[in-house]
Amino acid sequence: MHLNIIPFVRYRYKGEVVPCPICNSKENKPIARIDRRLKPLSTVMCDDCGVFYSNPMPTKAELNHYYQNEYRKDYQLAFSKPSAKHIEKKRNEARSRYEVVRREAAGDRLVLLDFGCGSGELVHEFATHGHEAHGFEPGATYSSFARSAKALDITIQSADFRNAVYAPKQFDAITMLHVLEHVPDPIAALEQAYAWLKDDGVLYLEVPNMQGYEFKCFEHFHFAHVLGFSRDNLILALRRAGFRIRRELSGTSMVAEKAHKGPCTVAIDPKAAAARNHADYSQPVSMLAYVRYHLRRGYRRLLAD
Ligand SMILES: [Zn+2]
Repeated sequence: MHLNIIPFVRYRYKGEVVPCPICNSKENKPIARIDRRLKPLSTVMCDDCGVFYSNPMPTKAELNHYYQNEYRKDYQLAFSKPSAKHIEKKRNEARSRYEVVRREAAGDRLVLLDFGCGSGELVHEFATHGHEAHGFEPGATYSSFARSAKALDITIQSADFRNAVYAPKQFDAITMLHVLEHVPDPIAALEQAYAWLKDDGVLYLEVPNMQGYEFKCFEHFHFAHVLGFSRDNLILALRRAGFRIRRELSGTSMVAEKAHKGPCTVAIDPKAAAARNHADYSQPVSMLAYVRYHLRRGYRRLLAD
């Protein structure tokens, strides 16, 4: 059996102790010592901006190895190609996400990039509507699947953001949907997106909202998510990379543009976010509550299927 799905067994990584990947603060508090699979994983919360992060942080080489070889097996049990259920869910998501891009970016034939495109449904959606569609994805299984669709004019690179090759100011819009929480150097990723965007381009960014869960505990930490955002520290990260917020769609789903368009008028208070996150996540959660929560969740899924 694949070792990563067995509880209590350590993940195969050493990692390195790092300052906060968003604000560089070295002040943090331990929040969880295990993850949702009950495997040892050390998660801390930054005292200054409230972001959660794995510390020790897996190194880029360790994460590259993980994403290229293990991630999809761990999280979607996809050993050779994405499952039919996964593809159907992603196609539905792609339709609504395309509508957001269409509303925000002006022009009839757009040049679009899905940053971390997974199995490529959103790139295909862009191409289906007649746009020039690009994407990149480090996972070998998913990037080759994304490329396999015939008859559509799409370009998929099997790469991460550090070695994907695009021209500066190439894109009218970049989507970065449930990607940034996987990246140990998020400011560098956002700066790269900034460099690839045209001056009037838009970035549509979404990550899981750590404030969005009714049950807040180690359940929401796992090896693939090296960062856990809430609204204020996500906006802080965008600002550090040169963006301003054009529109907040929900807590951690937003549309950003280059800051030269004017001052950012959106107010943030990262210290208050840190205090709130600390209050929510540092409460000890009993194993009984954890088991009850999962039984209820399993029951709801059963009804939904
Ligand atoms: Zn911080």
